[in-house]
Parts: sequence; C-alpha cells; structure tokens
Amino acid sequence: MKVKVNRDSCIGCGACAAICDQVFEIDDEGLSTVKNAEVEESHKQEVQDAADSCPTGAIEVEE
Ligand code: SF4
Repeated sequence: MKVKVNRDSCIGCGACAAICDQVFEIDDEGLSTVKNAEVEESHKQEVQDAADSCPTGAIEVEE
C-alpha cells in the first residue's frame, strides 16, 4: 500500500497523525506529511482509518 497527502487540501487538523504517528506527522508548516510512503503491513488498517477520517479527503491510498 502506498499513501500520500494532498497538502493543498490538508487543513492540519492532526487527525491522521493522532491515528497513526508512525506514518503521518504534522510538519513545521502545520500540515500533514508522510514519513514513509510505502506503508508496512502492520500499519495498513490505521492508514485506511486515517484516510477515512480526514475531513477534507486529503489522504490518498493506493494498493
Ligand atoms: S487528517 Fe487530513 S486534514 Fe487532518 S492533518 Fe491529516 S491530512 Fe490534514
């Protein structure tokens, strides 16, 4: 699974980082950034939950 954040849509709410701080972090600009785009098996569900929870649909996942 691969994940990316569309930073033009991100509003920096922090939900994704709260759900999976292994993959997402809020950077110096106050927006979410992906630490590692190649998601490990053990984090897939959390990443999917983060994508589903993002209020602006900024997180894109790809199998
Ligand atoms: S949940 Fe969405 S809007 Fe909120 S910080 Fe993460 S990517 Fe940005």
